[in-house]
Formats: sequence, structure tokens, C-alpha cells
Amino acid sequence: MEDIFARIDARKAALEERVPAVTRQIDQAFAPSEPALMAKLQRVLAESGSRRNKIIRIQALVSEVRSYAGEHAACKQGCSACCKQRVMMSQTEADAIGHAIGRPAVQLRPDYVPPRIHDFGRDTPCTFLVDDACSIYEHRPFVCRNYISLDVDPLLCGFENWDLNKAGDKRFTPVPHLDPGPLLTAYQKVAGQDRIGDIRAFFPPGPKGA
Ligand code: SF4
Repeated sequence: MEDIFARIDARKAALEERVPAVTRQIDQAFAPSEPALMAKLQRVLAESGSRRNKIIRIQALVSEVRSYAGEHAACKQGCSACCKQRVMMSQTEADAIGHAIGRPAVQLRPDYVPPRIHDFGRDTPCTFLVDDACSIYEHRPFVCRNYISLDVDPLLCGFENWDLNKAGDKRFTPVPHLDPGPLLTAYQKVAGQDRIGDIRAFFPPGPKGA
């Protein structure tokens, strides 16, 4: 365990050099497509249509934008390092996902209290994590698409790093990620006054599974 804590601590220095360099490369790769994608986003926001449909289109856009991180991202299909942590989404997005996967989302009650980050741990897999892989990958929530680690591997996403955070240990090293950008603002605009909750509240783990 001490070895992994030492590796986490050592990662800080490596990231100081890496993150500005890869951020620049991602920005350069994205720049030619940015005006067209941002115009598309504005059209989604301006068009009439259901909020559910808008959320689905914003999900697709965020996947497209984040694809420019490419090889610089630690996140790859099949990695589930962050799938035991809190996964927040709006009621509208939960309804959209539920519709897509054929499993109606729970409607959150007015007295629902969102969980705290530290309520999650090694034994709290996402409802849709099956055999260490996302079973609804094509329909996964906005947050799963938008949260892209710029590290070289999932070391900092592991619970050892969160243990350091909980303990207030200075070796804790935050996961470096891309700026959430205008897509998050657009998502929040569409979500409006929706209740926001963890994926497990909308889709409780149980015999029905994913
Ligand atoms: S929806 Fe899929 S990608 Fe997102 S946390 Fe759950 S298992 Fe992981």
C-alpha cells in the first residue's frame, strides 16, 4: 500500500509537465472543428423539441468533443476505474437513458438528498457496471463522457488516492481533467430545475440489473 501511495505522490511532478503540453495538443487538434461543433450546440439549444431529446444530442456532442483527447486520455473503453464513484445526472437525463435502455428511471422524490463524494467506495459499483465494463456504454451519462483524465493511467482514479483525500494526506493528487467547457453549461441549461441525483438512485441496483 505504501508503494502505491508513493507512486501517487510522485505522479504530481510528472503531471506538472504533462498536463499543459497535452492540453495544448488537444486544443490544437480541436480548434479547426470547434466553430462547427459549437454552432451545432447552439442549434440544439435554440431548437424546439423535448428536453430529453436535447440531452441525448448534447451527450453525442460531448462524446465528439472529447474524442479529440484521443491518445492523450487515460480513459479508454473498458476502463472502469471511476465507475464505483458518484455519478450525478439530472432527472431528464435519467429519463432519456431509461427510455433508451428500456428501463424507466425512478422519479426522485422532493426529499431526496444527493449523496456526498465520500459516501462511495470499493463496494459501490454503478448499477450498470457488469464484469468491470459499462453495460450501457452507448447510452452512458453525460458525466461519464465528459470526465476525461489527462493522466497516463487510472492510478489517480483508484480508491487509494481517495483514501489519501479522505485522510487529508498531502500526497493526494487530483485527477487532471479537461475543462468542462460550454457543453456542461448547455447541459445545466437544459436540465433547468430538474432534481439531480446519483445514477444508483435513478436505477437502483437489484435483481433486474442493467
Ligand atoms: S454508466 Fe457506465 S461508464 Fe458510467 S459509471 Fe456506470 S458503468 Fe461506468
